[in-house]
Amino acid sequence: EVGLDIQKIRKDFPILQREVNGKPLVYLDNAATSQTPQQVIDVIVDYYHRYNANIHRGVHTLSQEATDAYEAARGTIQKHFNIAKAHEVILTSGTTHSINLVASGFTSLLKEGDEILVSAMEHHSNIVPWQMLCERTGGVLKVIPMNENGELVMTEFHNLLSDKTKLVFCNHVSNALGTVNPIAEIIEASHKAGAAVLVDGAQAAAHIKADMQALDVDFYTASAHKMCGPTGVGMLYGKEEWLTKLPPYQGGGEMIAEVTFEKTTYADLPHKFEAGTPNICGGIAFGAALDYLNGIGMETIVQYEEELLNYATEQLLAIDVLKIYGTAEHKTSVISFNIEGIHPYDIGTILDKLGIAVRTGHHCAQPIMDFYGIPGTVRASFSFYNTKEEVDVLVAGVKRARNMLL
Ligand code: PMP
Repeated sequence: EVGLDIQKIRKDFPILQREVNGKPLVYLDNAATSQTPQQVIDVIVDYYHRYNANIHRGVHTLSQEATDAYEAARGTIQKHFNIAKAHEVILTSGTTHSINLVASGFTSLLKEGDEILVSAMEHHSNIVPWQMLCERTGGVLKVIPMNENGELVMTEFHNLLSDKTKLVFCNHVSNALGTVNPIAEIIEASHKAGAAVLVDGAQAAAHIKADMQALDVDFYTASAHKMCGPTGVGMLYGKEEWLTKLPPYQGGGEMIAEVTFEKTTYADLPHKFEAGTPNICGGIAFGAALDYLNGIGMETIVQYEEELLNYATEQLLAIDVLKIYGTAEHKTSVISFNIEGIHPYDIGTILDKLGIAVRTGHHCAQPIMDFYGIPGTVRASFSFYNTKEEVDVLVAGVKRARNMLL
């Protein structure tokens, strides 16, 4: 048993006290978005109560306080991901924004015939921007295949890598299957081949502490809302050399050094990529969310969630006719499953009646569903505030759904 005072932690999350359809809420949709602790809610309220102001260009006190808090949050993000320089942290609206920023920037760096490798288990947000980039440039998208267990076929990856490969994109953790991908191996081999790597950390960031310097990754993305922070804010980590090479994504205020109608020069990093008034409160709350997670300790979280995942996997597999998709050796926090003969939506609907929140459908990863020849799955995804008792409620609910529907 991991030393986590789970009842104390649950009290931090007001939403966990509510009822749904007359039953205590069992929130198992953490892969879609996580819940927000009171400590982070307090930071949001405090911002609007005391120092709501636009940042970076004000001489007045409120503006300076807001700027300081926003830049302090950037520093917290830098420290959390062990990033060498604060200006390598670009605050964005989330992973989707971060990926589009990089894909757009590569328009001027990619030539016809250059190859981009993308894993077979990507979220649509890490597929579509690259397809759009290939349409603009004549680049070619190639897919690193996966096997039945939901693991990337690494021999195929190494075969696909060549001197034509300019970019490799992969998620750290698959949101649909929970697979933890071997990103260290991918980064090392890609660099040897002369390719840059972007790792989509949206699903990993709440469950694995990623060290940017140790990984030596070129780009890494995260969304605050999956890490106990608010929606509409996230980060792009980029190595300084890459962020210097890439052109700005959006034009506007904040991202300029000097503007005339003849010529505009751009601001230094990170402001070059932060056009317009950002999500100031969101950025500050993102920092507070990381403080909250680090207060518990990422190592403790990782251990506890592993126990919970193992327990839930065992209990669910004990239900006959239940099949889990994604049985990789290295997994975290997600169980995607179906019961043969029952549509996932019907299971999800019955579970909701019992107060249990799961997600059903293709989880923005249609190629994975096509691989398995299924329309979708039921996905239960866990956080450190979930308990074994909640897993028992889920298992009982799934059994009930099976008995009603089969
Ligand atoms: N990639 C992965 C692996 C995800 O799980 C998600 C969110 N479901 C995204 C990208 C997109 O993140 P956001 O919607 O926060 O931009």
